[in-house]
Amino acid sequence: MNTCCSCILCHEINATLVCRRERWRYVQCKNCGLVWIVPRPSPSELSEQYKDYLPVDHEEIAAWDRMMMPVVRSSAHLIRTRTGADGGKLLDIGCGFGFFLREMKNCGWQVEGVEISPAGIQYIRDRWDIPVHIRPLEELSLTDNVFDAVTLFYVIEHVHDPIKLLLEVNRILKPGGFILLRWPHSTPIVKLLGPLSRKLNLYHTPYHLYDFAPDTMRTLLHHTGFGYVETVIGGSTRPSKRAYRIPSVIFGRLAEIVCRQSHGKFMLPGVSKTTTAFKCS
Ligand SMILES: [Zn+2]
Repeated sequence: MNTCCSCILCHEINATLVCRRERWRYVQCKNCGLVWIVPRPSPSELSEQYKDYLPVDHEEIAAWDRMMMPVVRSSAHLIRTRTGADGGKLLDIGCGFGFFLREMKNCGWQVEGVEISPAGIQYIRDRWDIPVHIRPLEELSLTDNVFDAVTLFYVIEHVHDPIKLLLEVNRILKPGGFILLRWPHSTPIVKLLGPLSRKLNLYHTPYHLYDFAPDTMRTLLHHTGFGYVETVIGGSTRPSKRAYRIPSVIFGRLAEIVCRQSHGKFMLPGVSKTTTAFKCS
């Protein structure tokens, strides 16, 4: 079928339809398996739709903090164990309300954030002495080779051009610098549930422009100058609603156990993944 554009990873033009939602389609590359949205919103449409993306209500923000805490803690632990460092210079892209930056600052790291949502920027500035850049990374012209670590939590599936973003991350990392990405992995569940998945809106349409799998994430990182790529399950979120929290915790734990027992060979789909890699020197 004609998908309007080719795969960004392998340039294949053959893709199959995964699902439709309103005026959007999600298609999957027949060669590498990457899934993307058609039509893809332009960068200007994207920055417009993110102005009101984050909540402003304090109760909702506190619930978000509690929801993300297990992921924040397990990611901080991963950075310590994979880099062997107790400190350094860290940039969190799409830092939201700054919960991960707060954790890393408390661990002794020198931290900065990138955020385009006014609600997130204001929240961080009101509470913590943490610098936040208020434009997309690609527009900041940061200096080469300055960061020891860069993190992206639930960002890579939202961006217009993931290759361009990760090339920029690579440029600002020191040689051997560390990257950590947290991302959803929805396509196998969308396929399994078929039309039932429409109600769940697992792609968060139209916000998720891509859906990665461990293999396509590895290819993306190799294409952008990273090596030693590893993907783990690494913690589950704790949504405030019981109906979402219970399955999140149960499936998250189950997926962690299966992943650990199989030495990373089996990664249950539908559960978010954390991928780490190092900048090739
Ligand atoms: Zn492809």
